[in-house]
Amino acid sequence: MSCSACGIVIGDDVKALQCDRCQSNDSWKCIDCVDLSSDVYDHLMCNMNCSLKWFCDKCDVSNAIGNGHQAASDSKIDSLLGLVERLLDKLTGLETKLNEKCNVQELNKMEIRLKEVEEILRRGLLQLKVNCLTRLIM
Ligand SMILES: [Zn+2]
Ligand SMILES: [Zn+2]
Repeated sequence: MSCSACGIVIGDDVKALQCDRCQSNDSWKCIDCVDLSSDVYDHLMCNMNCSLKWFCDKCDVSNAIGNGHQAASDSKIDSLLGLVERLLDKLTGLETKLNEKCNVQELNKMEIRLKEVEEILRRGLLQLKVNCLTRLIM
């Protein structure tokens, strides 16, 4: 076992971290190479429940793209879709009421509002997609 960056052999006297994700044998890095003070290292080792994780370069990249950004935008899209569903429910309910009254004029007004809402949501989703892409590229 040796540090994947500087190649130092990792024995009992060398403080090093193994990738928390792939846990592969060549993912070890000594604390000098991950810029960790030995105080912090000691703290990590005696707090196994500590939420701080270290990922090797390979996992760090796939982790950031696979989970981090994606999860954030997914939840935004989810809440936006939830909003759309609630709005459509409301509008369907209103339409039914209006149909019962046979008020054609009101119904036409509702249809115009519905189109406006659709347009706003479409623009919102587009903006969200652009934001995601910019974040992935940067
Ligand atoms: Zn090293
Ligand atoms: Zn890894």
